[in-house]
Amino acid sequence: MRMPGLLLACGKVNAMQKKTVLIVLLLAVMITMTRCSGPNPAPSPTAMPTVGPETDFPHIDLGEGLYLRQIREDVFVVTHAFPWPANSLIVEMENKDMVLAGTPYTPEAMQIVLDWIAERFGKRNITAINPGFHVDNLGGNGALAAQGIPVYGSDLTADLLEERGEQTRQQILRMLAGPGNETYHRAHSAIPYIPPSRLFPITEGLTLDFNGEEVIVYYPGPSQAPDKVAIYFPHLRILFGSCMILGGDQIGNTADADLAAWPQAVEKLKRFDAAFVIPGHGDRLDPGLIDHTMELLTAGS
Ligand SMILES: [Zn+2]
Repeated sequence: MRMPGLLLACGKVNAMQKKTVLIVLLLAVMITMTRCSGPNPAPSPTAMPTVGPETDFPHIDLGEGLYLRQIREDVFVVTHAFPWPANSLIVEMENKDMVLAGTPYTPEAMQIVLDWIAERFGKRNITAINPGFHVDNLGGNGALAAQGIPVYGSDLTADLLEERGEQTRQQILRMLAGPGNETYHRAHSAIPYIPPSRLFPITEGLTLDFNGEEVIVYYPGPSQAPDKVAIYFPHLRILFGSCMILGGDQIGNTADADLAAWPQAVEKLKRFDAAFVIPGHGDRLDPGLIDHTMELLTAGS
């Protein structure tokens, strides 16, 4: 499988840096999200877990740039490289409901994940939560809406999607303007930007109760975007930090960021006793990512 984004990130960064500051920042996203380690392995016909090259967690390849890492019996990190790898999360709750934190970039990829859930777990109640308005947080909403799956998101996420969504799409399309990226360009042109269907006031956050097992949606203030929320699973001690947690060695896309408030927001995540911290992008999944993010954000300041 060709990965034009990887080639772009590995080969043309220096030339591109001479362009605008925005382009530099956007390119940094690619550098952050890619490790220049070559294309993903070809989809396995059986989709059986294998040990992947990046971590010790079993990998399940779903094709189309999508793969899962199983970090517990009941928890799967979804990575969609489209073309920049971005993480979302599937959690099986104790009452057998499924919770999705974030989505892949596209409804098509979301559908593949939903089909995989149906195949592996059978028919389940599914609840989705959008961690922000960027397309790597909610681009799959079309597939969720088509199945009537409730999608929780903040009022600010819905507002920003309406106000800035198309602007962010144009930023992405500019990044994909080069030769070799036509497929991604076409796909990103067509992704429907659908807001969450169940809104909550962002300043209040949200607690969902699954027969006594809670999921906490927490807003620590502006960070990588004004509306980014973290999603904590206390029973499992898993914190989905989305793009406010940096999994790589670069800050990445700061087009919508509040760089002054971001470190304080991340500091607040220490209130959760997380054993796993899932970043929006990157392979690391350990709690050290909170300090790692704060160090990256405060370096040189
Ligand atoms: Zn992101």
